[in-house]
Amino acid sequence: MNISILVFGKNNFIATLPDQIRYPTAFSVEVIDNLNQAVSRIQITPPDIILVQASLDGSMELCSWLKDQTKLSCIYCILFEDRLQQLTDRNMYGWQSELEMSAAALKQGADAYIWHLIEEKTDHSLAELTANHGLILAQLTVGLQIAQRYRDLIQTNDMLSAIALTDSLTELNNRRALQWELPRQIKRAKTQKTSLSLIILDIDHFKKVNDTHGHLIGDRILQLLCQRLRYNLRCQDIPFRYGGEEFVILLANATDEEAVVVARRLNQVVSEEPFSLSNKLTINITISLGTACLKAEDDDQGESLLHRADQCLLQAKTAGRNRVIASNYLCHVPHLKVVSS
Ligand code: GH3
Ligand code: MG
Ligand code: MG
Repeated sequence: MNISILVFGKNNFIATLPDQIRYPTAFSVEVIDNLNQAVSRIQITPPDIILVQASLDGSMELCSWLKDQTKLSCIYCILFEDRLQQLTDRNMYGWQSELEMSAAALKQGADAYIWHLIEEKTDHSLAELTANHGLILAQLTVGLQIAQRYRDLIQTNDMLSAIALTDSLTELNNRRALQWELPRQIKRAKTQKTSLSLIILDIDHFKKVNDTHGHLIGDRILQLLCQRLRYNLRCQDIPFRYGGEEFVILLANATDEEAVVVARRLNQVVSEEPFSLSNKLTINITISLGTACLKAEDDDQGESLLHRADQCLLQAKTAGRNRVIASNYLCHVPHLKVVSS
Protein backbone atom coordinates (compact mmCIF):
# COMPACT_ATOMS: atom_id res chain seq x y z
CA MET A 1 0.00 0.00 0.00
CA ASN A 2 3.09 2.17 -0.22
CA ILE A 3 2.91 3.67 3.28
CA SER A 4 5.66 6.17 3.95
CA ILE A 5 7.39 6.85 7.25
CA LEU A 6 9.46 9.90 8.06
CA VAL A 7 11.99 9.55 10.87
CA PHE A 8 12.97 12.84 12.48
CA GLY A 9 16.11 11.72 14.26
CA LYS A 10 19.87 11.31 14.27
CA ASN A 11 21.79 8.19 13.34
CA ASN A 12 22.29 7.20 16.99
CA PHE A 13 18.49 7.06 17.32
CA ILE A 14 17.97 5.14 14.08
CA ALA A 15 20.46 2.54 15.31
CA THR A 16 18.20 1.79 18.28
CA LEU A 17 15.05 1.15 16.23
CA PRO A 18 13.81 -2.37 15.41
CA ASP A 19 15.16 -3.93 12.20
CA GLN A 20 11.67 -3.80 10.66
CA ILE A 21 12.01 -0.01 10.56
CA ARG A 22 15.71 0.18 9.75
CA TYR A 23 15.44 -2.29 6.89
CA PRO A 24 11.83 -1.85 5.75
CA THR A 25 10.11 -4.03 3.20
CA ALA A 26 6.43 -3.13 3.53
CA PHE A 27 6.84 0.66 3.62
CA SER A 28 9.35 3.37 2.73
CA VAL A 29 11.40 5.16 5.37
CA GLU A 30 13.12 8.53 5.01
CA VAL A 31 15.37 10.07 7.66
CA ILE A 32 15.72 13.84 8.27
CA ASP A 33 17.40 15.52 11.25
CA ASN A 34 16.72 19.18 10.49
CA LEU A 35 13.46 20.90 11.44
CA ASN A 36 13.12 23.17 8.37
CA GLN A 37 13.90 20.32 6.00
CA ALA A 38 11.38 18.11 7.77
CA VAL A 39 8.65 20.78 7.59
CA SER A 40 9.14 21.44 3.89
CA ARG A 41 9.30 17.70 3.13
CA ILE A 42 6.04 17.15 5.05
CA GLN A 43 4.35 20.04 3.25
CA ILE A 44 5.38 18.77 -0.18
CA THR A 45 4.74 15.05 0.35
CA PRO A 46 3.07 14.30 3.67
CA PRO A 47 4.17 10.94 5.07
CA ASP A 48 1.68 8.59 6.74
CA ILE A 49 3.65 8.21 9.96
CA ILE A 50 6.34 10.31 11.66
CA LEU A 51 8.73 8.97 14.26
CA VAL A 52 10.23 11.79 16.33
CA GLN A 53 13.36 11.57 18.49
CA ALA A 54 12.51 13.83 21.47
CA SER A 55 16.12 14.77 22.23
CA LEU A 56 16.68 16.21 18.74
CA ASP A 57 16.51 20.01 18.41
CA GLY A 58 13.12 21.05 17.03
CA SER A 59 11.31 17.82 18.00
CA MET A 60 8.67 19.52 20.15
CA GLU A 61 8.23 22.33 17.59
CA LEU A 62 7.64 19.69 14.94
CA CYS A 63 4.93 17.97 17.04
CA SER A 64 3.18 21.29 17.84
CA TRP A 65 3.40 22.45 14.22
CA LEU A 66 1.91 19.18 13.03
CA LYS A 67 -0.93 19.49 15.53
CA ASP A 68 -1.79 22.97 14.17
CA GLN A 69 -1.95 21.81 10.55
CA THR A 70 -5.54 20.63 10.12
CA LYS A 71 -4.76 19.29 6.66
CA LEU A 72 -1.97 17.13 8.11
CA SER A 73 -3.95 15.82 11.07
CA CYS A 74 -4.01 12.39 9.41
CA ILE A 75 -0.26 11.93 9.99
CA TYR A 76 0.34 9.57 12.91
CA CYS A 77 3.09 10.99 15.09
CA ILE A 78 5.04 8.77 17.53
CA LEU A 79 7.29 10.62 19.95
CA PHE A 80 10.25 8.65 21.35
CA GLU A 81 11.35 9.91 24.75
CA ASP A 82 15.13 9.73 24.91
CA ARG A 83 15.92 12.99 26.73
CA LEU A 84 18.28 12.25 29.63
CA GLN A 85 16.59 14.73 31.95
CA GLN A 86 13.20 13.12 31.41
CA LEU A 87 14.62 9.63 31.82
CA THR A 88 16.34 10.67 35.05
CA ASP A 89 13.18 12.36 36.42
CA ARG A 90 11.23 9.26 35.60
CA ASN A 91 13.68 7.07 37.49
CA MET A 92 13.73 9.46 40.41
CA TYR A 93 10.01 10.35 40.73
CA GLY A 94 8.52 7.18 39.33
CA TRP A 95 4.99 6.72 38.04
CA GLN A 96 3.72 10.22 38.67
CA SER A 97 6.37 11.91 36.52
CA GLU A 98 5.97 9.25 33.84
CA LEU A 99 2.23 9.86 33.61
CA GLU A 100 2.66 13.65 33.65
CA MET A 101 5.27 13.57 30.89
CA SER A 102 3.16 11.22 28.78
CA ALA A 103 0.16 13.54 29.12
CA ALA A 104 2.33 16.57 28.21
CA ALA A 105 3.64 14.80 25.09
CA LEU A 106 0.15 13.89 23.90
CA LYS A 107 -1.04 17.46 24.54
CA GLN A 108 1.91 18.72 22.54
CA GLY A 109 0.65 16.89 19.48
CA ALA A 110 2.05 13.35 19.55
CA ASP A 111 -0.40 10.50 18.92
CA ALA A 112 1.76 8.06 20.85
CA TYR A 113 4.56 8.48 23.39
CA ILE A 114 7.17 5.81 23.90
CA TRP A 115 9.84 5.73 26.58
CA HIS A 116 12.88 4.83 24.59
CA LEU A 117 15.69 2.66 25.83
CA ILE A 118 19.06 3.78 24.58
CA GLU A 119 21.43 0.88 24.49
CA GLU A 120 24.74 2.66 24.70
CA LYS A 121 23.79 5.02 27.53
CA THR A 122 22.20 2.59 29.95
CA ASP A 123 22.52 -1.04 30.86
CA HIS A 124 19.18 -2.39 29.80
CA SER A 125 18.68 -6.09 29.73
CA LEU A 126 17.97 -7.89 26.48
CA ALA A 127 14.46 -8.59 27.74
CA GLU A 128 13.85 -4.87 28.30
CA LEU A 129 15.11 -3.97 24.83
CA THR A 130 12.95 -6.70 23.30
CA ALA A 131 9.92 -5.38 25.18
CA ASN A 132 10.74 -1.84 24.01
CA HIS A 133 10.94 -2.99 20.39
CA GLY A 134 7.69 -4.88 20.85
CA LEU A 135 5.97 -1.68 21.96
CA ILE A 136 7.46 0.30 19.07
CA LEU A 137 6.25 -2.27 16.54
CA ALA A 138 2.80 -2.39 18.16
CA GLN A 139 2.51 1.40 17.92
CA LEU A 140 3.74 1.26 14.35
CA THR A 141 1.03 -1.29 13.53
CA VAL A 142 -1.59 1.07 14.98
CA GLY A 143 -0.15 3.89 12.84
CA LEU A 144 -0.18 1.71 9.72
CA GLN A 145 -3.80 0.68 10.32
CA ILE A 146 -4.86 4.29 10.83
CA ALA A 147 -2.96 5.36 7.69
CA GLN A 148 -4.66 2.61 5.65
CA ARG A 149 -8.10 3.52 7.01
CA TYR A 150 -7.45 7.17 6.26
CA ARG A 151 -6.41 6.35 2.69
CA ASP A 152 -9.56 4.25 2.22
CA LEU A 153 -11.65 7.14 3.52
CA ILE A 154 -9.97 9.61 1.16
CA GLN A 155 -10.60 7.24 -1.76
CA THR A 156 -14.28 6.82 -0.81
CA ASN A 157 -14.58 10.57 -0.29
CA ASP A 158 -13.08 11.28 -3.73
CA MET A 159 -15.48 8.82 -5.28
CA LEU A 160 -18.50 10.33 -3.50
CA SER A 161 -17.39 13.86 -4.48
CA ALA A 162 -17.10 12.76 -8.10
CA ILE A 163 -20.60 11.26 -7.94
CA ALA A 164 -22.01 14.35 -6.22
CA LEU A 165 -20.49 16.71 -8.79
CA THR A 166 -21.09 14.72 -11.97
CA ASP A 167 -24.21 14.41 -14.10
CA SER A 168 -24.74 10.68 -14.60
CA LEU A 169 -26.30 10.94 -18.07
CA THR A 170 -23.77 13.16 -19.80
CA GLU A 171 -20.84 12.70 -17.40
CA LEU A 172 -20.38 16.46 -17.42
CA ASN A 173 -19.97 18.46 -14.22
CA ASN A 174 -23.40 19.19 -12.77
CA ARG A 175 -25.00 22.36 -11.45
CA ARG A 176 -23.64 21.74 -7.93
CA ALA A 177 -20.14 21.64 -9.41
CA LEU A 178 -20.82 24.97 -11.13
CA GLN A 179 -21.95 26.52 -7.84
CA TRP A 180 -18.63 25.48 -6.37
CA GLU A 181 -16.41 26.29 -9.37
CA LEU A 182 -17.86 29.63 -10.48
CA PRO A 183 -17.01 31.58 -7.27
CA ARG A 184 -13.50 30.06 -7.39
CA GLN A 185 -12.96 31.18 -10.98
CA ILE A 186 -14.36 34.64 -10.21
CA LYS A 187 -12.05 35.03 -7.25
CA ARG A 188 -9.07 33.99 -9.33
CA ALA A 189 -9.98 36.28 -12.22
CA LYS A 190 -10.43 39.24 -9.86
CA THR A 191 -7.18 38.68 -7.96
CA GLN A 192 -5.08 37.91 -11.01
CA LYS A 193 -6.88 40.57 -13.08
CA THR A 194 -7.63 38.15 -15.88
CA SER A 195 -10.81 37.87 -17.89
CA LEU A 196 -13.48 35.25 -17.35
CA SER A 197 -16.40 34.56 -19.66
CA LEU A 198 -19.38 32.32 -19.56
CA ILE A 199 -21.68 30.77 -22.16
CA ILE A 200 -25.19 29.46 -21.47
CA LEU A 201 -26.72 27.32 -24.16
CA ASP A 202 -30.02 25.53 -24.55
CA ILE A 203 -31.22 23.02 -27.12
CA ASP A 204 -33.91 24.44 -29.38
CA HIS A 205 -37.32 22.75 -29.39
CA PHE A 206 -35.97 19.75 -27.52
CA LYS A 207 -39.41 18.84 -26.25
CA LYS A 208 -40.35 18.11 -29.86
CA VAL A 209 -37.41 15.65 -30.16
CA ASN A 210 -38.67 13.79 -27.09
CA ASP A 211 -42.27 13.90 -28.26
CA THR A 212 -41.35 12.63 -31.72
CA HIS A 213 -38.65 10.06 -30.96
CA GLY A 214 -39.10 9.26 -27.26
CA HIS A 215 -37.06 10.10 -24.16
CA LEU A 216 -34.37 7.47 -24.73
CA ILE A 217 -33.47 9.03 -28.06
CA GLY A 218 -33.62 12.43 -26.30
CA ASP A 219 -31.16 11.12 -23.70
CA ARG A 220 -28.82 9.84 -26.40
CA ILE A 221 -28.92 13.21 -28.16
CA LEU A 222 -27.92 14.89 -24.90
CA GLN A 223 -24.94 12.53 -24.61
CA LEU A 224 -23.86 13.06 -28.23
CA LEU A 225 -24.26 16.81 -27.92
CA CYS A 226 -22.04 16.87 -24.83
CA GLN A 227 -19.36 14.84 -26.62
CA ARG A 228 -19.46 17.30 -29.49
CA LEU A 229 -19.29 20.30 -27.17
CA ARG A 230 -16.37 18.86 -25.24
CA TYR A 231 -14.52 18.01 -28.43
CA ASN A 232 -14.78 21.63 -29.57
CA LEU A 233 -13.60 23.28 -26.36
CA ARG A 234 -10.11 24.05 -25.10
CA CYS A 235 -9.04 21.92 -22.17
CA GLN A 236 -9.29 24.88 -19.76
CA ASP A 237 -12.93 25.52 -20.75
CA ILE A 238 -15.25 23.72 -18.34
CA PRO A 239 -18.73 22.61 -19.45
CA PHE A 240 -21.51 21.96 -16.90
CA ARG A 241 -24.99 20.51 -17.29
CA TYR A 242 -26.96 23.38 -15.79
CA GLY A 243 -30.45 21.93 -16.12
CA GLY A 244 -32.38 19.52 -18.39
CA GLU A 245 -31.15 20.59 -21.83
CA GLU A 246 -29.25 23.65 -20.71
CA PHE A 247 -25.48 23.89 -20.35
CA VAL A 248 -23.02 26.44 -18.98
CA ILE A 249 -19.42 26.70 -20.14
CA LEU A 250 -16.83 28.58 -18.10
CA LEU A 251 -14.08 30.12 -20.20
CA ALA A 252 -11.11 31.14 -18.08
CA ASN A 253 -8.87 33.85 -19.56
CA ALA A 254 -11.41 34.58 -22.29
CA THR A 255 -12.68 38.04 -23.14
CA ASP A 256 -16.20 38.79 -24.28
CA GLU A 257 -15.08 38.68 -27.90
CA GLU A 258 -13.27 35.36 -27.44
CA ALA A 259 -16.35 33.89 -25.78
CA VAL A 260 -18.40 34.93 -28.79
CA VAL A 261 -15.94 33.17 -31.10
CA VAL A 262 -16.26 29.97 -29.04
CA ALA A 263 -20.06 30.27 -28.87
CA ARG A 264 -20.33 30.77 -32.62
CA ARG A 265 -18.14 27.75 -33.22
CA LEU A 266 -20.34 25.59 -30.97
CA ASN A 267 -23.47 26.96 -32.63
CA GLN A 268 -22.03 25.96 -35.99
CA VAL A 269 -20.72 22.50 -35.08
CA VAL A 270 -24.10 21.54 -33.65
CA SER A 271 -26.27 22.86 -36.46
CA GLU A 272 -24.15 21.88 -39.46
CA GLU A 273 -23.93 18.14 -38.79
CA PRO A 274 -26.96 16.00 -37.82
CA PHE A 275 -26.68 13.63 -34.87
CA SER A 276 -26.52 10.03 -35.96
CA LEU A 277 -28.56 7.76 -33.67
CA SER A 278 -28.45 4.65 -35.86
CA ASN A 279 -28.08 3.67 -39.52
CA LYS A 280 -31.65 4.74 -40.08
CA LEU A 281 -32.03 7.70 -37.78
CA THR A 282 -30.24 11.03 -37.85
CA ILE A 283 -31.64 14.09 -36.13
CA ASN A 284 -30.88 17.74 -36.72
CA ILE A 285 -30.79 19.93 -33.68
CA THR A 286 -29.81 23.52 -33.06
CA ILE A 287 -28.83 25.40 -29.95
CA SER A 288 -29.23 28.98 -28.76
CA LEU A 289 -26.41 30.61 -26.82
CA GLY A 290 -25.87 33.63 -24.59
CA THR A 291 -22.46 34.89 -23.50
CA ALA A 292 -21.24 37.29 -20.83
CA CYS A 293 -17.89 38.44 -19.50
CA LEU A 294 -17.07 39.15 -15.86
CA LYS A 295 -17.21 42.82 -14.81
CA ALA A 296 -15.57 44.36 -11.76
CA GLU A 297 -18.97 45.08 -10.21
CA ASP A 298 -20.21 41.48 -10.58
CA ASP A 299 -20.94 39.64 -7.33
CA ASP A 300 -18.51 36.97 -6.14
CA GLN A 301 -20.98 34.09 -6.44
CA GLY A 302 -21.48 34.71 -10.16
CA GLU A 303 -25.21 35.40 -10.00
CA SER A 304 -25.09 38.66 -11.96
CA LEU A 305 -22.73 37.12 -14.54
CA LEU A 306 -25.03 34.12 -15.01
CA HIS A 307 -28.04 36.40 -15.15
CA ARG A 308 -26.51 38.51 -17.94
CA ALA A 309 -25.69 35.44 -20.01
CA ASP A 310 -29.16 34.02 -19.33
CA GLN A 311 -30.78 37.25 -20.53
CA CYS A 312 -28.81 36.88 -23.76
CA LEU A 313 -29.97 33.29 -24.11
CA LEU A 314 -33.59 34.43 -23.73
CA GLN A 315 -32.98 37.06 -26.38
CA ALA A 316 -31.51 34.41 -28.67
CA LYS A 317 -34.66 32.33 -28.19
CA THR A 318 -37.05 35.21 -28.86
CA ALA A 319 -34.99 36.40 -31.82
CA GLY A 320 -35.58 33.06 -33.56
CA ARG A 321 -33.20 30.50 -31.91
CA ASN A 322 -30.06 28.86 -33.43
CA ARG A 323 -27.92 31.93 -32.73
CA VAL A 324 -25.49 33.59 -30.33
CA ILE A 325 -26.24 36.78 -28.44
CA ALA A 326 -23.55 38.48 -26.39
CA SER A 327 -23.89 41.07 -23.65
CA ASN A 328 -21.65 43.95 -24.64
CA TYR A 329 -19.21 44.15 -21.78
CA LEU A 330 -17.74 47.47 -22.96
CA CYS A 331 -21.09 49.15 -22.23
CA HIS A 332 -21.79 50.25 -18.66
CA VAL A 333 -25.52 50.05 -19.22
CA PRO A 334 -26.38 46.43 -20.02
CA HIS A 335 -26.89 46.26 -23.72
CA LEU A 336 -27.64 43.31 -25.94
CA LYS A 337 -26.37 42.77 -29.42
CA VAL A 338 -27.06 40.09 -31.99
CA VAL A 339 -23.81 38.52 -33.07
CA SER A 340 -24.78 35.74 -35.40
CA SER A 341 -27.83 33.99 -36.72
P1 GH3 B 1 -36.85 25.96 -26.39
O1 GH3 B 1 -36.34 26.07 -27.77
O2 GH3 B 1 -37.70 27.10 -26.00
O3 GH3 B 1 -35.79 25.71 -25.40
O4 GH3 B 1 -37.81 24.70 -26.40
P2 GH3 B 1 -37.62 23.33 -25.67
O5 GH3 B 1 -38.65 22.38 -26.16
O6 GH3 B 1 -36.22 22.89 -25.80
O7 GH3 B 1 -37.83 23.74 -24.18
P3 GH3 B 1 -38.84 23.23 -23.10
O8 GH3 B 1 -38.41 23.89 -21.82
O9 GH3 B 1 -40.27 23.43 -23.52
O10 GH3 B 1 -38.59 21.68 -23.02
C1 GH3 B 1 -37.37 21.15 -22.58
C2 GH3 B 1 -37.44 19.69 -22.82
O11 GH3 B 1 -36.21 19.07 -22.44
C3 GH3 B 1 -38.54 19.03 -22.02
C4 GH3 B 1 -37.84 17.99 -21.22
O12 GH3 B 1 -38.54 16.78 -21.14
C5 GH3 B 1 -36.55 17.79 -21.98
N1 GH3 B 1 -35.51 17.25 -21.10
C6 GH3 B 1 -34.95 17.82 -20.03
N2 GH3 B 1 -34.04 16.99 -19.47
C7 GH3 B 1 -34.06 15.86 -20.21
C8 GH3 B 1 -33.34 14.62 -20.13
O13 GH3 B 1 -32.51 14.37 -19.26
N3 GH3 B 1 -33.62 13.69 -21.07
C9 GH3 B 1 -34.55 13.91 -22.07
N4 GH3 B 1 -34.76 12.96 -22.95
N5 GH3 B 1 -35.24 15.04 -22.13
C10 GH3 B 1 -35.00 16.03 -21.25
MG1 MG C 1 -34.67 24.08 -24.98
MG1 MG D 1 -34.38 24.82 -21.32
